[in-house]
Amino acid sequence: MRKESGIEICRTNCGSKCCRSTPPGLTSEDIKIIKEKTVGGDWILNIGTYKKPIFVVSKKGDTKDCYFLTEKGLCSIYNHRPLDCKFFPIFLKLKKKNENEYSVRWLTWYCPLTEQLGTEELRQQIKEIVVQMLKNSPQTIHEYQQVMYETGGYKRKHFLLEEDIIISKSDT
Ligand code: SF4
Ligand code: SF4
Repeated sequence: MRKESGIEICRTNCGSKCCRSTPPGLTSEDIKIIKEKTVGGDWILNIGTYKKPIFVVSKKGDTKDCYFLTEKGLCSIYNHRPLDCKFFPIFLKLKKKNENEYSVRWLTWYCPLTEQLGTEELRQQIKEIVVQMLKNSPQTIHEYQQVMYETGGYKRKHFLLEEDIIISKSDT
């Protein structure tokens, strides 16, 4: 789900489909931020094992709704939502080529936003975030990728394109 203060605006009134399906995976940074910004509750679920935990946001009761989805179909932690939600419906797989260069495979999933803005527009917006993260907190983006593998987040996604991203040392 995306709305006003995000990187772009989702005004498709699709019924918040992305918040009523596969639960978003959580990086350790996501967990830290959500813990700081919420007042407890049963929002976190380990779908892995005790030794190898895989954390996702839990469902609300017996519904398919994300724990943080409000009655009005809005995200109650919008400014602090997981990276998985910020990037949706765009996904990426990174491979480090050398110190300052990454090969990136871009994937997508259908949602009404892809029709409204187009996948290229969305991909460019996400890419800006990814480049900043690779400069400032590469660990978080690598962890996002790990979470996507572990939760099956990459399954049945459509390949968009592959490209190299070069991180300029002078910008870091
Ligand atoms: S249009 Fe896409 S991103 Fe927006 S709420 Fe619907 S499924 Fe989520
Ligand atoms: S955290 Fe927010 S944006 Fe992400 S699935 Fe839940 S309600 Fe939707």
